[in-house]
Amino acid sequence: MNSCSRHPNRPATQYCQKNDRYLCDECLRCPNPMLYCIHRVACVIWYLERERRREWQAAGTGEGGRV
Ligand SMILES: [Zn+2]
Repeated sequence: MNSCSRHPNRPATQYCQKNDRYLCDECLRCPNPMLYCIHRVACVIWYLERERRREWQAAGTGEGGRV
């Protein structure tokens, strides 16, 4: 089993094809969200990040108190 590239003592849960990197749960986010990624359409990391952002928005985080 592969370990996280930032945390060698943790098992990696996902693999980033763009950066050729293994990531653990904590590192599970796209390192360069603004950069075009050819693997993005099938990227689990990007998918999870998008889901997470949707949750943030649904929770109203960062909403400027609009009436
Ligand atoms: Zn990690």
